[in-house]
Amino acid sequence: FNVPKAVNEPVKSYAPGSPERAKVAETYKAMWNAQVEVPLYIGSEEIKTGNTKKMSAPHDHQHIVGIYHQADKALVEKAITSALEARTKWAAMAWENRAGIFLKAAELLAGPYRAKINAATMIAQSKTIHQAEIDAACELIDFLRYNVEFMTKIYADQPASTSDMWNRVEYRPLEGFVYAITPFNFTAIAGNLPSSAALMGNVVVWKPAATQVYSANVIMQVFKEAGLPDGVINMVMGDSGMVSDVVLSNPHLAGVHFTGSTGVFNDIWKTIGNNIATYKTYPRIVGETGGKDFIIAHPSANAKQVATGITRGAFEFQGQKCSAASRVYIPQSLWPAVKSHLEADLASMTMGSPEDMSNFVTAVISEASFDKLARYIDQAKNDSDAEVIMGGNYDKSKGYFIEPTVILTTNPKYNTMCTELFGPVVTIYIYEDAKWSETLKLVDETSEYALTGAVFSQCRYAVEEATVALQNAAGNFYINDKPTGAVVGMQPFGGARGSGTNDKAGSAQNLLRWASVRTIKETF
Ligand code: GLU
Repeated sequence: FNVPKAVNEPVKSYAPGSPERAKVAETYKAMWNAQVEVPLYIGSEEIKTGNTKKMSAPHDHQHIVGIYHQADKALVEKAITSALEARTKWAAMAWENRAGIFLKAAELLAGPYRAKINAATMIAQSKTIHQAEIDAACELIDFLRYNVEFMTKIYADQPASTSDMWNRVEYRPLEGFVYAITPFNFTAIAGNLPSSAALMGNVVVWKPAATQVYSANVIMQVFKEAGLPDGVINMVMGDSGMVSDVVLSNPHLAGVHFTGSTGVFNDIWKTIGNNIATYKTYPRIVGETGGKDFIIAHPSANAKQVATGITRGAFEFQGQKCSAASRVYIPQSLWPAVKSHLEADLASMTMGSPEDMSNFVTAVISEASFDKLARYIDQAKNDSDAEVIMGGNYDKSKGYFIEPTVILTTNPKYNTMCTELFGPVVTIYIYEDAKWSETLKLVDETSEYALTGAVFSQCRYAVEEATVALQNAAGNFYINDKPTGAVVGMQPFGGARGSGTNDKAGSAQNLLRWASVRTIKETF
């Protein structure tokens, strides 16, 4: 299989005075002042239903950047029909032609669309330029490039034969369509979930999160410009419950590719269970859901490294990553040093609009999220077993701004040590140095989710002990690093327990879920 060797897209620095910084600033301004109208993409049509919703910027919620159109039941049905109609030709197309489309999409994102996809992600998801660049540009490009390489690895995996018996397997697309449901927090995931299934020859109905439609629209434009045939990926927005009801009750549903909350994923699974006898084939269910990700420091850890891990792991993109560090265990002896590094880090962090590229944190995604976070912070201010020791202020008058907040608790099962908050709030529990092993046990026992986690230690015995004790508590385990920022091709990403089906995004294992294998035996 002769395909270009996948390489990770280098992350640009956007240093003050650099041409890429000027270009993204100019693109941001132009997009900020324009009004986008996002249609439904169904088959060959771009449909404007007139039933619209406004799109705004979380850091300036009164500023409207456009509208998107919503589907009714009939249009969701139409999206499914369009997908199934496109399937015959798409599934029969030689893999090189499918690959060529997505490799071209990667190059469009790396070049002419880079500023646009970054600016879109900065405006409507309130990412800083660095967070947009590592997500909307680099990670999405990496997914598109690496998936082609993973596909060829899958195709190359063939069974044994003898001189009079030729065995072979065909990695056929699933018989039906795939439903991709994508979250607001990663533009890369929004692009990857529909495109990975499509690359394997599947047709897709894609529902992006309402708060991410603005950048999803740019992804659709890129796919179309790259030559994606009509009907292969159909993008529909609308009432989530209604869209899912229609899609999940269709007999041709062949797979669900999901990233979002555990609750929604459970509901999808239950609905599929209820409908199970009505499907033509058992739908593949792949989901990446929540996380309550830990950092645990050993007494031998480097305090500065631990503090940096907390600051970056918990507060980048306002903590709105499934992988974000949100509960931290520090030994008593290390706490004074970690605390002073943390205070220094927080004092140097500025918060505001992503348009000012020096800001480290911006707004959280929505009013609902803001209100929920404010409630937890207020409760911690009042509870006797918790204390807000850094940050703790919030203001939604212009944008949904929550200050990076550190809660200290004396109760390792305090609610913010267990509940996923999805915001810039981290809770720290101090343990007695002698209780390292007990603390590892405690971390495992309280890991209802198992997405990411990090251990900081200069002692290799402690690293080994933690690696074993926490083997089921994190699908992505980090040693002396923050638990966020998995890179495609380097750290396949996903977790188990309440965090999902662990079908590692950015791996051949994930792509294999989008293939239905036919074995052929021929005798001579
Ligand atoms: N892959 C991302 C990371 O490693 C997290 C993805 C998510 O939040 O769903 O940080």
